[in-house]
Amino acid sequence: MTELGVGRPTKRRAGSAVGGLPVADSRPVLADAGLLGSRCTECRYPAAQQGLPWCPVCYSPVEPATFRRSGSAWSSTVVAIPVGKRRPPFGLAYLDLDDGPRVLVYLDEPVLLALGERLEICGVDDGDLIAKKEEA
Ligand SMILES: [Zn+2]
Repeated sequence: MTELGVGRPTKRRAGSAVGGLPVADSRPVLADAGLLGSRCTECRYPAAQQGLPWCPVCYSPVEPATFRRSGSAWSSTVVAIPVGKRRPPFGLAYLDLDDGPRVLVYLDEPVLLALGERLEICGVDDGDLIAKKEEA
């Protein structure tokens, strides 16, 4: 097996796992109060990242924000190949939070979702957000 970044040219930075510089983790952070992120003080654009230097839309200052865990599915798929530690099949979806940004979530079961189906973020697995269908 070839080790990433060793012995061949690569466009990816190797990362600290193979002796390179640490690479920033851009995944959203879940706290008890909700999903931590930022919101623009001018245009109110929501972002799922903390500590942004400015609004990605209008370049105005941003302030810390906490978003609710619930939202509706924008898109979903069932992945049929192994990715990292995950073994197929597993579900992935983009979730439009009710009061916030669109985030990538892993599903607690490998299912395709209807457009707009209600989801709720129920936890974190190894830094990835996990969501399940909202109970009616
Ligand atoms: Zn803005």
